[in-house]
Amino acid sequence: MADHVPHFTLITQNVDDLHERAGSSHVLHLHGELAHPYCESCRRPYIYPAGIPDSPPGGARLQPPRCTACSAKIRPGVVWFGERLPERPWVAAREAAQHCEVFLCCGTSALVQPAASLIDVAIGAGVTTVQINPNPTDLDTSATVAIRGPSGTVLPRLVTVTWGLS
Ligand SMILES: [Zn+2]
Repeated sequence: MADHVPHFTLITQNVDDLHERAGSSHVLHLHGELAHPYCESCRRPYIYPAGIPDSPPGGARLQPPRCTACSAKIRPGVVWFGERLPERPWVAAREAAQHCEVFLCCGTSALVQPAASLIDVAIGAGVTTVQINPNPTDLDTSATVAIRGPSGTVLPRLVTVTWGLS
């Protein structure tokens, strides 16, 4: 067992909470979070009285809940096409990319901007970068190391070999 587990920041475009449920504690959601709906007008956070329903009880006719402050519609806390990324996680992600020792880019085609630019931030800062993907990508030549394989297979082996964790 290793005596030092490094600080780890997980940057994701996922809008669900699967990373948190898997035990990750420092997660930056670049595209927002489904579990954090807010008012489309005044942007106040909204908390579903009985939790977020798995399926709408009214089917397609279900109307979104209304803001208790201004009566505007409540929307999912995710980034829709054409919207800007939430500033706080984006700034934190750029900061992490610039100052980390190793930047792992896992299971992404690295085509969706601006998230795909984060590895360029790391490369520009002289950070060691590791691309893990089952398919060839444009990062194969720019990353310090490119490992071909699914991240679900490669990452556990990498953690075991590097930090002696299993
Ligand atoms: Zn409102």
